[in-house]
Amino acid sequence: MLIHLSELFNCEGRKKVYTVETALDSVDFDGETFQIEKAEPFELELTAKTRHKYTMSGHATLTVGGHCARCLEPVSFDCELDFGREFEVQDGQEESLDDEPFMKGYNLDVDQLVCNELLLSLPMKVLCREDCKGICNRCGTNLNLRTCTCDTRSLDPRMSVIQEIFNEFKEV
Ligand SMILES: [Zn+2]
Ligand SMILES: [Zn+2]
Repeated sequence: MLIHLSELFNCEGRKKVYTVETALDSVDFDGETFQIEKAEPFELELTAKTRHKYTMSGHATLTVGGHCARCLEPVSFDCELDFGREFEVQDGQEESLDDEPFMKGYNLDVDQLVCNELLLSLPMKVLCREDCKGICNRCGTNLNLRTCTCDTRSLDPRMSVIQEIFNEFKEV
């Protein structure tokens, strides 16, 4: 969805509230594709401060689907987006500025704006629950569901060093 700023152009101090929605269905972040499972229409308020400077404010909640970083099970979580910011529009600017990829000329691209904010709001690590036990890196068992009999102690290099010292000591 595009908002054309012509209604606000050359009207300093003028304010307009747009009800917008996004058609964005996924974003790629840190090697994973996050699905946008639910996105309700939301309000975006745009104010012309000067001929070239605008402010926007608005808030949206998206339901996003990803995978738990430890056990790889699907997880849905809510992401709060805050669109409060200032931005500039240049005359005859067809190329987007790096920090305003959502502005193309006088058109504000809502999908691009949502994508931008979502990438900033995604958690560094998605977990299905705080104390997720993850999967056994030997047999792949989901340790939240059952336990396995793998000896995972030897996977810790610090432990194997201690074990070696211990064995040498026994041999003497
Ligand atoms: Zn998990
Ligand atoms: Zn195992």
